[in-house]
Amino acid sequence: MNFTIKLTSSENSFSMCKNTILFFLVANPLPTIFIAIFNDLMETNLSTELTETLACPLCGANCFTVMKPSNYPIGLTHDNIVKIYSASSDRGLFDQLVKCRECSLVYLNPRIKAEFILESYSRAVDPTFIQQNSQRIKTFKRILNRLIHRFSLKTDGRLVTLDIGCAGGAFPKAASDCGFKVVGVEPSVWLAEQARNLYGLDIRTGTLLAQDFRENSFDIITLWDVIEHLTNPGQIVEKVHHLLKDEGIFIVNYPDYNSLARKLLGNNWPFFLSVHLIYFTPQTITNFLGKYGFEVIEIRSHWQTLEFGYVLQRAAVNFKVFGPVVDFVKLLKMDKLPMTYNVGQSLLVARKK
Ligand SMILES: [Zn+2]
Repeated sequence: MNFTIKLTSSENSFSMCKNTILFFLVANPLPTIFIAIFNDLMETNLSTELTETLACPLCGANCFTVMKPSNYPIGLTHDNIVKIYSASSDRGLFDQLVKCRECSLVYLNPRIKAEFILESYSRAVDPTFIQQNSQRIKTFKRILNRLIHRFSLKTDGRLVTLDIGCAGGAFPKAASDCGFKVVGVEPSVWLAEQARNLYGLDIRTGTLLAQDFRENSFDIITLWDVIEHLTNPGQIVEKVHHLLKDEGIFIVNYPDYNSLARKLLGNNWPFFLSVHLIYFTPQTITNFLGKYGFEVIEIRSHWQTLEFGYVLQRAAVNFKVFGPVVDFVKLLKMDKLPMTYNVGQSLLVARKK
């Protein structure tokens, strides 16, 4: 199992060497020798110029259990990193995964330096992600309609929604169509521009902390597929607390480390990616938000609708068997069909305490 992970997380430039080793593995009666050679070609440590060590983002402790050791592709450079940390990166997890012995938070440590990750997000260009916008908008409208009824939200254009990390603007568009005033914030210059051009909405380029929003000015604040990417989740959640009105709601989705999907898929869980820096459970995210003054009202499964072909393509990153299926589905012209799925994502609603 460990060997498979190493294969999925290796660099393209390394693939020829990898395939040669694989050939010998199949042909040789003593594969362990070659596994040893293969291991020598991976790096367990990366230059401290590229990585940083951090205390537990939830409790500040420095004691942890290693859940999976690091496995950096050999020769990883600053330029590779900037390419990898884009919005829908499908690079397998290569940083060390640890679990805090004090509070049980699972997170990457050491990890790639925050400044490089932020640089990557600001430069992200992701046309494939944008192509799924219509399905994302449908997903968000379905979720919003449930929330409108659940929390008796008014849809007369007076409630103001802030979407942090709005990517190509799918949520702002859905929220606008559902009768909310919207503002989006997106660090990627390209994605923010796409969002503005596509929907003509108020989308600000940059990080949340770089904006000058007034305190207590938003009724709804959302983080869609964002919290696990944040290098400074505490600062962001604290800022959300300042920006949200007292009666406002905070909506977050996250890949749930305690989900059945994660337990069943093990190291092949598709959310194990180097771009995902924190892996919350219902308990650790409740404690995390609680630390910054939020009370969790509900946590439920998050079901996402995307095109069948796109979902298969993403699945093929971890399960090579789906590779040929992607082409077959395209041949049958079934790749554009909507597919609603859950592989362990949860949706959380919180209010200020
Ligand atoms: Zn901790």
